[in-house]
Amino acid sequence: MKPTDTETTSVAFMAAPHDHQSCIDDAVAGAVRLCAKKALRFTQIRRRVLELVWSRHTPIGAYDILEGLRPDYPRAAPPTVYRALDFLSELGLIHRIESLNAFVGCNNPEAPHSGQFLICGDCGATAELDDPDIEAAVRRGAGRLGFDARRQTVEITGRCPDCQKAQSPDGQSADGQARSAKPDVT
Ligand SMILES: [Zn+2]
Ligand SMILES: [Zn+2]
Ligand SMILES: [Zn+2]
Repeated sequence: MKPTDTETTSVAFMAAPHDHQSCIDDAVAGAVRLCAKKALRFTQIRRRVLELVWSRHTPIGAYDILEGLRPDYPRAAPPTVYRALDFLSELGLIHRIESLNAFVGCNNPEAPHSGQFLICGDCGATAELDDPDIEAAVRRGAGRLGFDARRQTVEITGRCPDCQKAQSPDGQSADGQARSAKPDVT
């Protein structure tokens, strides 16, 4: 893979330093637009939960979100968080990563799509593929078995570009620390 390709894929995982506040601002602005279009209330707590999901580009669990809410909402309880997460998921503003029981913000909530997620097993970085061909292939395959596929979430685990770079051939990570050797890797 040429370096330029690696840089492009790295962008998808948002691992490089960037103006992250603008990621959060864009997500909130998108949510405001979508709620206005659907005449739904974008309450303060829904907004705060969305901001917390967008506090990073790796999936975040409900309990971390609850902890993040506590300074502003000392009495917030798990059902409060789950209701807000349900609302945001149903609108497509966030996606639930089933295998991690965690949530990640969606870059493109205004275009309905099934999620195909690439999840880095090392650092947790997550990117969406949004490939309609994969969705169609799953639908066709399911149809051959007489199955009516409604919702598809495809979760693919592997290693992101940065973590591949970090693990150089001599087994040293970028910060000079030796990585623990996995038993099946020599
Ligand atoms: Zn960002
Ligand atoms: Zn999405
Ligand atoms: Zn990674």
